[in-house]
Amino acid sequence: MRDIDYDILIVGAGMAGASLACALDGAGYRIALLEASSTDHAAPPGYDERVLALAYGSQRIFRQLGVWDALAEHATPIEHIHVSDRGRFGFTRLHAVDEGVPAMGYVTPARAIGEALLPRLPGIAGLEVLRPATVVALAANRDGVEVGLITGQGRQRLRARLLVAADGVRSAVRELSGIGADEHDYSHTAIIANLTPAQGHGNVAYERFTETGPLALLPMTEGRMSLVYTVHSDEADAHLGLDDAAFLCKVQERFGYRLGRLQRIGQRSAYPLVMTRAQTQIAARTVLIGNAAHTLHPIGGQGFNLGLRDVATLAAMLRAPETHDPGAGALLAEYAKRRAGDHSAIIRATDALAKVFSNRLPVLSQTRDLGMIAVDLLSGPRHLLARHAMGLAARVPTLEPR
Ligand SMILES: Cc1cc2nc3c(=O)[nH]c(=O)nc-3n(C[C@H](O)[C@H](O)[C@H](O)COP(=O)(O)OP(=O)(O)OC[C@H]3O[C@@H](n4cnc5c(N)ncnc54)[C@H](O)[C@@H]3O)c2cc1C
Repeated sequence: MRDIDYDILIVGAGMAGASLACALDGAGYRIALLEASSTDHAAPPGYDERVLALAYGSQRIFRQLGVWDALAEHATPIEHIHVSDRGRFGFTRLHAVDEGVPAMGYVTPARAIGEALLPRLPGIAGLEVLRPATVVALAANRDGVEVGLITGQGRQRLRARLLVAADGVRSAVRELSGIGADEHDYSHTAIIANLTPAQGHGNVAYERFTETGPLALLPMTEGRMSLVYTVHSDEADAHLGLDDAAFLCKVQERFGYRLGRLQRIGQRSAYPLVMTRAQTQIAARTVLIGNAAHTLHPIGGQGFNLGLRDVATLAAMLRAPETHDPGAGALLAEYAKRRAGDHSAIIRATDALAKVFSNRLPVLSQTRDLGMIAVDLLSGPRHLLARHAMGLAARVPTLEPR
């Protein structure tokens, strides 16, 4: 391999890639952040209309990255979580106060996360942002990795000691590294929109399971709520084609009148739901993080929270004073080992929830009724569920100065 251009190449300036760049501020590496999307769009595509439930643990990570202050005014605290099953008995409730925290999480528009992360990038010493720059080829050996790019100025080659794939669910780096991925198509589509209920939301996040799939309503600023409404994919176009009043009727029918009449709904967007998990997190001189490593059903709002814990773990290892070669095989193997438990636990739980709670088989319905009542009555399981919801069940290192 010829001379090294950078210590680290991060592919993708979505939430995972941009967070990692911020987490490496001051670590002394020469880093290039490569982003495919054109600069005609202000922000890369992930910072769109979706609204995220950031777990309490993610808020702590963002605070360490120094981006929380810019986000706080757009973030609505979740003080209670209410889970119920339409037309059935089971329900459970979780409360921040029982867990000794001010909020179990914070509902935050993806766009606001972009507005907090992206302006930080130009001030990071040693970081260059190349956009548009699409990775189309790569070759790795023991000493480094060489990446082929298509940029605004034509083709280019860059070399580095570590390549970080933060390039999302269709990760080109994953594919070019020969890493396979397991996929499950839920045949469901999530329709998201913001709406305003007649009554105040009281900072409660609602997760409601219905015969046609889960529905979530998350509290937002100005009394609004963010709706995640799942339908069978073959019914998605029909739902998107309804006028606002007819669509609100459908949502009201599923959610009920707990918050009075649902009124005023904003623009709707649709996301087909597929679970994707890379078969390994690492290859020679390469590591996958965020959606490139795992893309989840949005039920439970865990996708980016899991990805941000990838970021915090990897950044802490790269910042450690004893780390001299950021792409060393032993370091990457240790990273994969540290993340395996959290990945498996969250992916299994999310997948099981998505499948069990979208199923109307009587035996499964009764089982989940009993499960939810048990969780509601017993403080042990409830506390465990709360720690998972808050993103505190997995160990995440604190970022130290290097
Ligand atoms: C409806 C919905 C609701 C959700 N709700 C929640 C929630 O409540 N809580 C939560 O934690 N998560 C939630 N998620 C998940 C969350 O949105 C994702 O986990 C997160 O956006 C993934 O970020 P990422 O940076 O890993 O990937 P992406 O956002 O996909 O970013 C990848 C980036 O890589 C770039 N790129 C791609 N290919 C290349 C290439 N070859 N070369 C260079 N660049 C490339 C892309 O342009 C893009 O900018 C939700 C998702 C959906 C769909």
